[in-house]
Amino acid sequence: MSERLPLVVDVVRYAETGRRLTGELPLSGMTRLLPLLHNASGAVWLDLQFGKDDLKVANVRGEIRAQLRLQCQRCLQPFDYPVQVKCALGVVTSEAEADKLPGDYEPLLVTSQNMPLAAIVEDELLLALPVAPMHKEGECPAPVQSADAQTSKPSPFAVLGQLKAARIKAK
Ligand SMILES: [Zn+2]
Repeated sequence: MSERLPLVVDVVRYAETGRRLTGELPLSGMTRLLPLLHNASGAVWLDLQFGKDDLKVANVRGEIRAQLRLQCQRCLQPFDYPVQVKCALGVVTSEAEADKLPGDYEPLLVTSQNMPLAAIVEDELLLALPVAPMHKEGECPAPVQSADAQTSKPSPFAVLGQLKAARIKAK
């Protein structure tokens, strides 16, 4: 059974008490993700365990799954893109702390006791999205285009490249 998920989480306290969250969040509340989706219907399923490791690092581990409706950048038709993310987030309160994070953690910057749960989940989904979403090979109805036929309009997905770069830099 899924519990009713809290809108905001006190990540540090949840880690102290070993809280676990399982349930679904609507995609419609994720304002940074929405412009990249063909439509906003649907939900994200999550199972997150808050805790501390042997080195006393507060962390969030778990899984996030969603079926996203994206627009193919070649034929502009929508297609379903399943996302399944296994996350291991180390809780940090500053960028300097992020540099010192041990092990396999990605940094989760926590600056408030009321962090929107959707923001944590949304970050993971954004990082899981392809920079140029397209149908799989052979499933796209559009004819193969030459490089100069491509539109020069900047893709809304360009922002993902920056986000991924920032994440790599933060490691
Ligand atoms: Zn396509």
